[in-house]
Amino acid sequence: MNPAHPNPSANADWLARSQAAVWHPCTQMRHHTRAGSPEHLPLVPIARGQEAWLYDFDGKRYLDGISSWWTNLFGHANPRLNAALRAQLKTLEHVMLAGFTHRPVVELSERLSALTGGILGHAFYASDGASATEIALKMSFHYWRNVGRPEKAEFLCLAGAYHGETVGALAVTDVAIFKDAYAPLVRRAARVLPSPDSRLAEPGETPADVARRAAAVLKRHLQEHGARTAALIVEPLVQGAAGMAMHDPEYLRLARALCDRYEVHLICDEIAVGCGRTGSFFAHEQAGIRPDLLCLSKGISGGYLPLSVVLCRDALYAAFLDDSTARAFLHSHSYTGNPLACRAALATLDIFSEDDVLAANRIRAQQIVAALAPLAAHPQVRHLRQRGMIAAFDVATDDPHFSRRFYRAALDNEALIRPIGNTVYWMPPYIVDAAEIAHLGAATARALECALA
Ligand SMILES: *Cc1c(COP(=O)(O)O)cnc(C)c1O
Repeated sequence: MNPAHPNPSANADWLARSQAAVWHPCTQMRHHTRAGSPEHLPLVPIARGQEAWLYDFDGKRYLDGISSWWTNLFGHANPRLNAALRAQLKTLEHVMLAGFTHRPVVELSERLSALTGGILGHAFYASDGASATEIALKMSFHYWRNVGRPEKAEFLCLAGAYHGETVGALAVTDVAIFKDAYAPLVRRAARVLPSPDSRLAEPGETPADVARRAAAVLKRHLQEHGARTAALIVEPLVQGAAGMAMHDPEYLRLARALCDRYEVHLICDEIAVGCGRTGSFFAHEQAGIRPDLLCLSKGISGGYLPLSVVLCRDALYAAFLDDSTARAFLHSHSYTGNPLACRAALATLDIFSEDDVLAANRIRAQQIVAALAPLAAHPQVRHLRQRGMIAAFDVATDDPHFSRRFYRAALDNEALIRPIGNTVYWMPPYIVDAAEIAHLGAATARALECALA
């Protein structure tokens, strides 16, 4: 079902023009130009997307195995999302949210609050995940000032944490390759505590044991420093950029209890793991807890438009209500609460409720587990793991170019799978069918052989 491609050199043309004019994210641009070297990273011009597939200008197709950087939930060119956006375009494309409000932002805020059982009653908007992180950190810090405890100003994060790459978000991000070059810019880096990553299990330890061990360190830290700590920020259940590091919900239960006891905010960064990714709509639900602040982005707009949101508890919101403007949360972005982005999010939530997506994903998740199961026997595959619509394994190899070799080989096999270091993972849109999962399985097996050859 490849589309017609009238101009066979179109790919090369867009490639050259992009390299001449576009600075691509998260990329050593030189790696795009050195074909044949082990560092070479192909730049793929995409002409169009349809459902789970991306098509280049020469008619080659790629199954989007990582949901275009974890954003796309219901496929490219989704007819329901397209229709919702077309309707919104006819009424209101944008209006500033300071001093004004509009239907999509009100409805979305109400529905997100309802999804938390009404516990996180107010929604603050921005455009990117990193901005949501910064908003949550600023809200927590400012809350403690407003209630007369300005000494509570320190933040805690977990080893391997990723909460975005703006200067403020880097303070709570623990990924050396993103952070080290800018370390002098980061004013006050958060204290990094041990991750409950299940891969750290000692012989005989269960994932819950690892969680308890990590929580014990959190407890010791809070016993000593709780009075100066504003918040703990975590990626519930799966630390994505750390290499899909998964942990037992027990950690979240214990962290919640400790945060309550030592009066510290729990910030759940569900930018990657929210919106059904781990099997429940919010990942934290699997621990039976609610955070004080919840960050969402990526999938919330179905992967259509930049939108992020921070949901907060009413008591936190109430601490900003005062006659004094200085006690207000004076934070804004030009596109805060953009109606088109909010409309895309509402259409995304509609699909969740109309299609019972979480139930359908349980079946998909089983198919994903079955498709990857044969790889467990591979002599270089370690820690094959899965949670909801995320599956991953680590590859035992010393090759520093493994990730790029695998990525190239997967593209050659019609699949977009972009390992993080030596971790190969799938994070497909919630529309992949059994045949597409089998396609991903075959592409993964072939790419692995090719990358290790
Ligand atoms: C992607 C991501 C972010 C940052 O979001 P951006 O939109 O890329 O700024 C923050 N936290 C987590 C857990 C993420 O996966």
